[in-house]
This record gives sequence, C-alpha cells and structure tokens, in this order.
Amino acid sequence: MPKINANITGRSIESDCFPLPSAKIRIAVIGVGALGSTVCVELHKRLQTKARVEVLMIDPDELHPKNVPLSVAYSSIYDSSGEDVFGDAKVDLLSAHLKTSSSRSVTFIPCQSEIADVGWQDLSGCGLLVTCTDSALSRAETAFISQSFNIPMLDGGVLGSGNPGGRVSSFMGHASSACYLCGVSEDHRARMLGYAASASLGCTVAERTIAMDPSDATVLSIHRTATRLVEAIAEVLNERPRGHSWAARLNPSDDRLNPSDGRSAPSSSIVWQEDRIELSRSHTCPWHERRMNLVSVLPERPLRDSLPAVEDVKLQLPWPVSLIARCAVCGYVIRRPQRLASLRRMRSCVSCGAESRMDPVDCISSVGESDPAAELTPRQLGLPPRHLLFVRRSMKSYWGDREAS
Ligand SMILES: [Zn+2]
Ligand SMILES: [Zn+2]
Repeated sequence: MPKINANITGRSIESDCFPLPSAKIRIAVIGVGALGSTVCVELHKRLQTKARVEVLMIDPDELHPKNVPLSVAYSSIYDSSGEDVFGDAKVDLLSAHLKTSSSRSVTFIPCQSEIADVGWQDLSGCGLLVTCTDSALSRAETAFISQSFNIPMLDGGVLGSGNPGGRVSSFMGHASSACYLCGVSEDHRARMLGYAASASLGCTVAERTIAMDPSDATVLSIHRTATRLVEAIAEVLNERPRGHSWAARLNPSDDRLNPSDGRSAPSSSIVWQEDRIELSRSHTCPWHERRMNLVSVLPERPLRDSLPAVEDVKLQLPWPVSLIARCAVCGYVIRRPQRLASLRRMRSCVSCGAESRMDPVDCISSVGESDPAAELTPRQLGLPPRHLLFVRRSMKSYWGDREAS
C-alpha cells in the first residue's frame, strides 16, 4: 500500500494497484462525468480485493456528445454503440460498460439521481463518499451527508483547459475537522445555502465550474486526478484516516503538457508534483452540530406516527421542502411538496414558460406534531425512498436558522 506524503515528487502511479481489506465495502461516487467515469474505470482496474466492493454511481445526467472526448469510458461506449447512446443515463451506460470487462469483485450500482434525492439508508452504510461533480451545490450537499454520518469524503476536480493540473481534497467527516463547506468563502457559502435553503427571493443560481476543452492536457489532468483519487480511496478504506482534512494541488512538474509544438508527452513519462495543505475547520460553518438520535427507518405512514412522544421534538428534514410554490410572473401555483433546490432548478413555469421564476410560498425544514405536514407520509412530502430523518429538539434548522415561516 503506497503511503501518501506531502510533496510527492518523481513518482508515477501508472502501474500501482491498491490492495484492500477483505470485508464488504460500499462507496458512493457522486458525478460520473469525465472525472467520475475515469475514477470508476480506474477503481475497476486497480482495486485488488477479496472483499465485495459496491460502488454506488450517482448522477442525474444523460450522455451528450460533448461528454465523449473527455472520457475514455464514454469514448469507448460511443465507439461501440454509436449515436444511439446519446440521451441515455450516464450511470446506466457506465455500469453496463464496466460489466462487460471481467471484474473480480467490484460491483457498480447505477443511481440516476441527484445526491440530495438518494435515500439515506443507501448512503449511511457507505465507507466513503467521492465527489467528482461540477456542481458546488452537490459537493455541499454531499458534505452535509458526510458530516451527518461521519463518513469521510474525497473531492476531486480538474483545472480548465490550457491550465493542466487537478486537485484532490480529503475530508475526515468528523465534527472537529474541516468539511467541504468550511473551505468555501463566507460569501459563496451564504449564496449556496440561500439557493438551497432560503425561501427569500433573489438568490443566484449556484455556479458550475467552467467547461473543459478536450485538449491533451485536460485529458491527462483528468487521468492523473482520477488515479490520485483511487489511491486516496484505497488509503481511506484501508486505514480510516485521522487528524486533519487536507487539500492537494496536482501539477505536472514540467511544461511538456503545454508544449509549443502542440504535442504532449506520453502520460507515463510525466512527473506530477503534489502540494498539500491542511484544512482547518471554519467555526461559522453550520454543519458540525451534534444531532439527536436518528430515526432508523421511516415507515410510509403519516410522519406524526414517527415522532417520538417527547415534547418539542421535531423531525428534521435534510433539505428544506417547498410545499406551495408560485410563479412570480403569472401567479401559477404548484401545490406539490418538492425539495427547494429542485424547485429552483425548474427551468420554466409550466403555465407561462417564464424561466426560473418559481418561488416558494410555504417552505419547511422540520416537521412537528402540530404541523400540517405531519399528516403527510415521507413520499407525499417528496422524500426519497429508503430515507432516514433526524429528530431534533430545537426549532433551529441545519441550514443556519433559515427556516421560512
Ligand atoms: Zn464545515
Ligand atoms: Zn408562470
């Protein structure tokens, strides 16, 4: 098992494989675009294990032509099946692709969903969460799950085209260590939480990272970042890390990734440097509070039945739910509970077609015995199947006391 040191130099991990302990292990990979699909392929190739490893691949998106040049897996899928694959779920294509090559004991489970719509019964048993998404909000939502269940989280990203390199961050998933949201600037954090959690108007849409051009430098950066993530995955699964969360920049140590003649060096000959820093916890980050007990399973009965008979205790929804929403342009009303962030992502009003103008009128982040929403079952409230909820004594929301009235 290779050890990770700060400032690793002169090492290529092209030929390394990573042995794992022999037990059943489940990990979740959130986002299977260029980076996430490469991580899955590398996991498939490199994990050496007698254990059964389940990889839950979570991504809501379908495959588009722009996804193909950046991903070895999607290029290969496109080469063998042609244009018919466009419009199919990435997770389905990828799991079928990985099944065709002989895997020893790694099983890939497709889950076409946003991370916030995956039931917590399926996530709470994970040994590790790995984010490879281009959405800051998905990372923040995953960080919340990581902190809630004390599951370590690894996060990977690749720099834009013309700027070779990548980054890998490791978060311990402890209350006392930095989470992804700790490292986000206060301003950006407030905007993200506002987008997903505040019923007030005027929130800006959580930003996505810049699209990557399919240059050699980008493809090599994706591959290097993916293999570094797989190395970190093996490290976490073998010996659950203690101490500090960290972030590492990966840089090619020479300029052959951007040569003047336009040709890149072969990937195996490129030496990558790693500059690693420790991350400290932000004391203004809201996701480090202690929770009360967890309700293990929520039956499909009115939520009132699941509330413990203790005064002032509420079921805490992981993400705020809009019960009633109204179009700011034509006044069209939707009376269907839905997660606030997914309401904000609704492209247009079904009545007048206005873009991104649905505003929540009634939005909740917890359910107490006397609340009207206590009449609803988990599914009627728009919660995913196989979900879990926390119970909580105070009225305060996880999302920074932003519960709308
Ligand atoms: Zn934090
Ligand atoms: Zn409208």
